[in-house]
Amino acid sequence: MKNYDVIVIGAGIIGLSTAYRAQKAGAKVLVLDAGATAYEASSRATGYLSLRGETPAESPLAQEAERLWDGLDDELGYPTEWTQKGRIWAAMNERELDELKELYKTFSKTSIPFEFLDGDSMRKLIPCLSPDCLGGIWTNRSGHANPQRTSQAFAWAFTDLGGEIREYTPVLEILTEGGKVKGVRTPEGEIHCARIALCAAAHNTLLLKPLGIHFPLAPVRLEALVTTPMPPLFEQAFIGNGLSIRQTKRGNIHMNGGPYEWVDLEIGKEAAKPNTPIVRNILRRAIEAMPVLKGAQFLRSWAGIIDIAPDQMTTIHRFNNPEGLVTAACSGHGFGMAPSAGIAVAELLLEGKTRMPIDQLSLDRFKNTPPDWRERRNWQAGQYNT
Ligand SMILES: Cc1cc2nc3c(=O)[nH]c(=O)nc-3n(C[C@H](O)[C@H](O)[C@H](O)COP(=O)(O)OP(=O)(O)OC[C@H]3O[C@@H](n4cnc5c(N)ncnc54)[C@H](O)[C@@H]3O)c2cc1C
Repeated sequence: MKNYDVIVIGAGIIGLSTAYRAQKAGAKVLVLDAGATAYEASSRATGYLSLRGETPAESPLAQEAERLWDGLDDELGYPTEWTQKGRIWAAMNERELDELKELYKTFSKTSIPFEFLDGDSMRKLIPCLSPDCLGGIWTNRSGHANPQRTSQAFAWAFTDLGGEIREYTPVLEILTEGGKVKGVRTPEGEIHCARIALCAAAHNTLLLKPLGIHFPLAPVRLEALVTTPMPPLFEQAFIGNGLSIRQTKRGNIHMNGGPYEWVDLEIGKEAAKPNTPIVRNILRRAIEAMPVLKGAQFLRSWAGIIDIAPDQMTTIHRFNNPEGLVTAACSGHGFGMAPSAGIAVAELLLEGKTRMPIDQLSLDRFKNTPPDWRERRNWQAGQYNT
């Protein structure tokens, strides 16, 4: 049986970013995925980088990601469509205006330049914004990219370096021996390695459970859609009316929105991801926010599953037992985080420490989280986060 220095479980953007960095550092890396490369959340995302002003513990890692995003096309050698034109939060009614004023107070405690604007100033930034917009928050920092192209860019950059991706090969079990990682069990047999990066999103919980490790993550389904190309309307990452909306480089309007449905998963199995009438609701809210979209032709829709931790923050954790295991999951904002999160995981795997600012993101913060935390929050399958 062929041996590897590192096995990465999960060919989403976190696993691919990790694999690229580890292979580049000289390790022999194998990526295993239960399905196709970046077929799950990573290619279904809207593509924003959030600077995490709302969670200061994550913000340094997000800002490090922003610095990396600026050079990512050159680094990987493939286009990501990174667009650094800022981010805007719009209030469509008085209640939302009050909520954004509260959020702005939190944002103002960070070093990121945020401004609170009235409706007219917002419409100067995005002229197609509805007259109903009462105001909101703006930063010229942050941006968005193409999720499919970026995930593919990481995958190609990794295989260009000699890395190997094996698709349709679910990991059924993480194998350990004497308190150390030994390898993985797949339907084709065991594959041995010294180190494992577990980057399987909400499936991390299921794969760690047999090792007696509790990684609290709740899987949740959310829906998205895209229009045919429209004339240039705006370049910022827009958030408003319960939606994220961006315009792609070729003009498509790409959006996602809630409410989100909590679901359950099974090891190695693809979760059902149906679209529902929520898509119509997303369209209605998009037209309310930007009336020009009434003339848009809607091209296709899809849904995806993200993984939410109890505090809705990123987790990156290196285990002492079993030695050689590192895990990561990003609570639904992993696309933007991927450039810095991948470095952190690769460095923890290969060097045992990282220069990335992740001190407050370990699993230790959940040591008092009860096993039934999902039930207590009503985050269990079939419930919506309305
Ligand atoms: C509609 C939508 C919009 C979003 N918008 C944004 C956004 O604007 N900005 C942002 O930052 N984030 C966004 N996200 C979240 C973002 O997509 C995720 O946080 C990110 O893609 C997580 O990457 P990942 O690699 O951890 O997970 P995934 O991309 O889900 O990859 C995990 C991989 O693990 C594999 N796997 C699972 N179990 C096993 C197993 N047993 N063996 C082998 N492989 C396994 C899966 O097949 C999958 O390919 C959005 C998500 C959705 C669905």
